[in-house]
Amino acid sequence: MGTGRLYKNRFATVYQGKCILTESGWYTPLEFLAKDPEIDITTWTHSIRSGGLTLQTLIENDILKLHTSDCSCIICHEEDPFPENNDECFMCVDGGKLFCCDSCPKSFHKDCHIPSVSPESAEWNCTFCIIRKNKEKEDPENSHCWQEFEVLKQRMYPVQQLKCEYLLMRMYCCSESFLFIKDPCRYKVYSQRVREPMWLDQVKERLSDETYNTVEGFVLDMRLIFYNCKKFNKDNQFGHLGAKLEAKFERDFKEVFDIKEADEVDQPIFP
Ligand SMILES: [Zn+2]
Ligand SMILES: [Zn+2]
Ligand SMILES: [Zn+2]
Repeated sequence: MGTGRLYKNRFATVYQGKCILTESGWYTPLEFLAKDPEIDITTWTHSIRSGGLTLQTLIENDILKLHTSDCSCIICHEEDPFPENNDECFMCVDGGKLFCCDSCPKSFHKDCHIPSVSPESAEWNCTFCIIRKNKEKEDPENSHCWQEFEVLKQRMYPVQQLKCEYLLMRMYCCSESFLFIKDPCRYKVYSQRVREPMWLDQVKERLSDETYNTVEGFVLDMRLIFYNCKKFNKDNQFGHLGAKLEAKFERDFKEVFDIKEADEVDQPIFP
């Protein structure tokens, strides 16, 4: 009998749901068992084990949900509900050794993802998916809007850290970002004219070293990149690239941290 990883969320029935990931790809329980001609298919829930327990035990304990034959969910109905992961990195569009998100088709190099992927056997979700899932869990009725100065003061707890990592990943994904990734001081004239250089790889390093105590530290470094760009390039084409990326950053920042400016917040009306 072969080995693989069982993904609970992809499990449906014996012939629906490619829920077992092996060295050679995804398999339904039936396809997985078919690799061994000796196995009796009728007792499939007893033949496959996960974490030392048979599927039968997992199903009886509600850890796995066996779908009914008339189930109308996406796994039971769609030919390929979970397309295979991309074979190029979502961030740098290059190939090589990639880590695949278990919730979306995106793949990443270990260090292109923020934070860098720590290789482990458990299910792994990319930062985009974690943010999306957190948003889905939020109750729109109870959502709170902040003013920018309140957000900047927030301490860098895991929630804030995650949002900053997400913002930074979105920056790297922009076509304008190529100019701002590496240390600009490799151009001599730059270091002569810009007093405090800043670049995306530097922000990424500081973020992963937990250098920032507050959200403000991160935002100030990001804004420094754009400030330097304006100062150095003025109105040339690179200046325009910087301005475009800056506008995107400010928009994303407000969206991700639920910021509303004072005049957008409903003012209480007193009689
Ligand atoms: Zn189903
Ligand atoms: Zn990459
Ligand atoms: Zn993902």
